[in-house]
Amino acid sequence: MRGRWGLGQAPAPNTVHLLESRGVRVFSLDSEHQEVDAFSLWRDGVPYVFLNTAKSGERGRFDAAHELGHLVMHGRDRALNTPEAEREANRFASALLMPRADVLARMPSGAQVDQILSARSMWRVSAMALAHRLHDLALLTGDQYRAACRRLAELGYRSAEPGGIPRETSQVLPKVLSALRAQGLPPARLASALHIPLTELNTLVFGLALAPHPGGGRSRATRRPALRVLPSPAD
Ligand SMILES: [Zn+2]
Repeated sequence: MRGRWGLGQAPAPNTVHLLESRGVRVFSLDSEHQEVDAFSLWRDGVPYVFLNTAKSGERGRFDAAHELGHLVMHGRDRALNTPEAEREANRFASALLMPRADVLARMPSGAQVDQILSARSMWRVSAMALAHRLHDLALLTGDQYRAACRRLAELGYRSAEPGGIPRETSQVLPKVLSALRAQGLPPARLASALHIPLTELNTLVFGLALAPHPGGGRSRATRRPALRVLPSPAD
């Protein structure tokens, strides 16, 4: 994949921008869907990726790379929802984000946790993901890897990424939204044309539909509706 896309061995760029530049439609998922990190699908020959934005920026990059793995490796004749497909997508993501030659060139054998923590920003991956990659590449023994994982978990790096990067967001969607606005189709009208609430549209487009847009002031579409209490339905 790196060869075909001409990425060489350098750390991966912004993954959302990368996928978009190759024709993948990337959308965000409502953070209330906590059980789903991400998913992807092909529809009419077009690849789609949906990312849950509740996780850390590093997790988001891994999820995007993982879904790219599914898009290029699974579906059709190869089952998508198997533990093996999950392992393959994880290995794909790990290798895409942390190229073997680059990691071998920069990381010592038997890296300590503080070295892992300072190195994670080179590839913009989670400390856990980097530790896993180091073990994959035999730079950490099984014991060293398990010890690193225990220490990282104690420091809070299993469920979060203290001191991590911000979430990556779309490069294409702001352009699309602004072009549609220019054509007289602000987000509120777009949502009603799609028969979904504006808030739902907003969760799909990285919150950009309700973001203030360039051109001065706030449009009608970005004004928050006043909340009111609805009467309960008559029995
Ligand atoms: Zn998966």
